[in-house]
Amino acid sequence: MSKTPIRLLVHGASGRMGQALLRLAADREDLRVVAAVSRKVDQRVVDGIPRFAAKELAGVPAFDAAIDFSLPDGFEAMLALCVSRSAAFVSGTTGLSDDQRGALDAAASRIPVLWAANFSLGVAVLDLLVERAARDLDGWACDILEQHHVHKLDAPSGTALALGASAERGGAAPRYASVRAGDIVGEHTVQFAGVGERVELVHRATNRDVFALGALTAAVRLAARTPGLYGMRDLLADA
Ligand code: NAD
Repeated sequence: MSKTPIRLLVHGASGRMGQALLRLAADREDLRVVAAVSRKVDQRVVDGIPRFAAKELAGVPAFDAAIDFSLPDGFEAMLALCVSRSAAFVSGTTGLSDDQRGALDAAASRIPVLWAANFSLGVAVLDLLVERAARDLDGWACDILEQHHVHKLDAPSGTALALGASAERGGAAPRYASVRAGDIVGEHTVQFAGVGERVELVHRATNRDVFALGALTAAVRLAARTPGLYGMRDLLADA
C-alpha cells in the first residue's frame, strides 16, 4: 500500500541544484513539492508550485521536510523555520560557518537534521565498505584517488576527505591523489594494497542528477525519523 506523500519545501529553488530537485520531484509519488523558495521570485506559481521569496518565509504552507541547496546567508532562516514548523531539514549548502554548524547541532535536539557533502546513495555505501575494509585489512596501504572536471577548485574533494575519515575510523592511514580533467562528474577510488594483492573500491558518478535524487530520498526517509543529527549512511537501512 503506498504511503501518503510527504510535503516538501525546496530552498534555493532557482539554482542549479534547486531546478534539478524540482524536475526530478515531479516524477515521484513519495513526495509533493508544496513551496519553492529562492532569494527573489519573478512568478508566483510555476508548474503548479507556489514560489516564495526568502523574505516571505513566514507565509509558506505546512510542510514535512525542507531541502536546502542555497547559500550560507539564507541558511539560518530556513533552519529556524524548520524548527518552528517541526519539519525535517536536509541541506547540502557548503561554506557554512562554525556558528551555522553549531546551529545545525542545536536544531538536531528538536528536529531530524541531515547535512551531507555528497548525497549519492552509492557513495554512502562506498563509505561503509571503506570503513569495513580498513578494519579487516590491517597494515595495508590505503590510497584515495579522486577525479573531477577541470572547473572544480578544491582538492582533495570533500567526498574524498569523508571517505578518508571513514578509512581512519577503520584504522587505515589514507593518502590522497587528485586529478582534474575534462568533464568528469566525479570518481572516487579507494585502494588497499597488501603484499601480492590489492582491493579497489570504486564509485563513478556519471550524471549530476544522482545528487538531487539522493537528497529527495533522504528527505522522504528523514521525515519519518525522530529528532537527531543524521548522515546519509544512517538512512541506508530503510532502503
Ligand atoms: P546556485 O547559485 O545555482 O543557486 C543558489 C540558490 O540559492 C538560488 O536559488 C538562490 O536564489 C538561492 N539563495 C541564495 N541566497 C539565498 C537566501 N539568502 N535565501 C534564500 N535563497 C537564497 O547554487 P547551486 O549550484 O544550486 O548550489 C547551491 C548550494 O549547494 C551551494 O552551497 C553548493 O556548494 C551546494 N552544493 C552541494 C552539493 C552536495 O552534494 N552537498 C552538490 C551541489 C551543490
